[in-house]
Amino acid sequence: MDCIFCKIASGQIPSEKVYESQKILAFKDINPVAPEHILIIPKKHISNIEDLAVDDSEDIAELIFAAKEIAREHALSDKGYRLIINNGRAAGQEVFHLHMHIIGGKEYLGPMIAK
Ligand code: 5GP
Ligand code: ZN
Repeated sequence: MDCIFCKIASGQIPSEKVYESQKILAFKDINPVAPEHILIIPKKHISNIEDLAVDDSEDIAELIFAAKEIAREHALSDKGYRLIINNGRAAGQEVFHLHMHIIGGKEYLGPMIAK
């Protein structure tokens, strides 16, 4: 399958990894919008929320707990950070392999926007 995040998960395409478990991988976004901009993905290919099955529950739970751990490791826990899933074309999803953005390290003052 021609999926860029599957290739990152398998190591075919290099990435700057910050966290890895059996099910989950986190790596730095190639085009950061804040001092800390990390993507967390399930290694399994799930295109987005619409593609989720009940069997994927553990992966999704792990995604959230990984975010908490990564935030702690990057000193974001106290300051706060954003967790964003762009789901589908109208939300600006560019890569159709489910991923959650962790965005932090700058004050967020605006209304809700995509990035
Ligand atoms: P989306 O709009 O789909 O939620 O966000 C996709 C994100 O993936 C973008 O922020 C983009 O910068 C990032 N991205 C796209 N291709 C690559 C890549 O090859 N490596 C990394 N590290 N990030 C990527
Ligand atoms: Zn994929």
